[in-house]
Amino acid sequence: MAVNSKKPETLVLHAGWRADPATGSVAPPIFQTTSYQFRDTEHAANLFALKELGNIYTRLGNPTTDILEQRLAALEGGAAALVVSSGQAASAFSIQNLAKAGDNVVSSTDLYGGTWNLFANTLKDQGIEVRFVDPSDPENFRRATDARTRAYYAETLPNPKLAVFPIADVAAIGREVGVPLIMDNTAAPILCRPFDHGAAIIVYSTTKFIGGHGAAIGGALIDGGNFDWEKFAERQPALNTPDPSYHGAVWTQAVKPIGPVAYIIKARTTLLRDLGAAASPFNSFLTLQGLETLPLRMERHCANATAVAAWLSKRPEITKVIHPSVQTGEPRARADKYLKGGYGALLGFELAGGAAAGRKFIDALQLFYHVANIGDARSLAIHPASTTHSQLAEEAQLATGVSPGYVRLSVGLEHIDDILADLEQALKAAA
Ligand code: PLP
Repeated sequence: MAVNSKKPETLVLHAGWRADPATGSVAPPIFQTTSYQFRDTEHAANLFALKELGNIYTRLGNPTTDILEQRLAALEGGAAALVVSSGQAASAFSIQNLAKAGDNVVSSTDLYGGTWNLFANTLKDQGIEVRFVDPSDPENFRRATDARTRAYYAETLPNPKLAVFPIADVAAIGREVGVPLIMDNTAAPILCRPFDHGAAIIVYSTTKFIGGHGAAIGGALIDGGNFDWEKFAERQPALNTPDPSYHGAVWTQAVKPIGPVAYIIKARTTLLRDLGAAASPFNSFLTLQGLETLPLRMERHCANATAVAAWLSKRPEITKVIHPSVQTGEPRARADKYLKGGYGALLGFELAGGAAAGRKFIDALQLFYHVANIGDARSLAIHPASTTHSQLAEEAQLATGVSPGYVRLSVGLEHIDDILADLEQALKAAA
């Protein structure tokens, strides 16, 4: 790491890189290579035996991606990170790194649809059971735990409900019983620091706010280095028993000379090696470019979204606005506890005119893009009932928080006057 600062604004510009020793290049070079020349056979053997850390093959690691990994770990106050090809790969790895067939994970019900599918279907097919619980009572996590529970999983600021997850309460339960809390912090980078509240692992889709410009799909896992895997050796066999896929390495022991990075080293040396979801160096470069302005962008995202929420709350065409800035009671208390510097860019609202009004509204937008993405610098909108959630029956849609007239916005960085003008003309068109 190039600086000692703990301030996010400084870390996103300086952590993990100063200048290229060979050329002086200030911007991180794109190391567009598959492989790396070994110095000699001893060097090669040491790298493969993990006696020395270094570059072997870009599926396992790459110098451009390494800068992004160091920067993300520094930003979150973690021990190490692993960057992968998508947020989906990061979510899958986060579980597969601890659980195998016959094991289970307890997850919040409030999840991104892709994660829900992964948990309810693909992991199930692999023999890993995901037990979904209502996160409004943290004790639900304890109640669903048994001897084969290997992890807890949740999103910091899940849409569409945008109810902030009780990170500290569930992390504390997990630390009592030996279960690490994995937090998907995709919707709240900078605003929320999950490790400060006891989370053990952070998952990101860097595709969203971190990349920030809708240009590169990517994902990351960050190891807090703060979970005592050895203390719970029976509960966490994946990190405490010999791994036949790496000549019998016991990961908690193997990493002792390096640091508290058993989780992330195992993910890299086994899952990334075997499943191959490696990030492309070019995508890592684009993501680094985005990361450099993340704190500044989050400020504007939050300011614009809060202004939009206040403005929408006064509109007669709208029956409900969903954004932490307009929440009250317990949900607002949680938002204030966990989100610092703003309430996020994601916002939902319900049109009195139902599904027909929702579709008309989206069709009338001129500035907002109609896309299935969030976290772009540009403002984005979607009508979930006719798109992302259209495969669900109306009852199931309602259970996930999607009513027929529900519209989701990811408020961007444009001037607030232009954002409100576009919303105004679209509301009129939908009336
Ligand atoms: N997690 C959350 C909260 C998301 O919103 C998404 C994508 O929308 C993902 C994970 C998956 O990320 P990706 O699309 O980069 O695979």
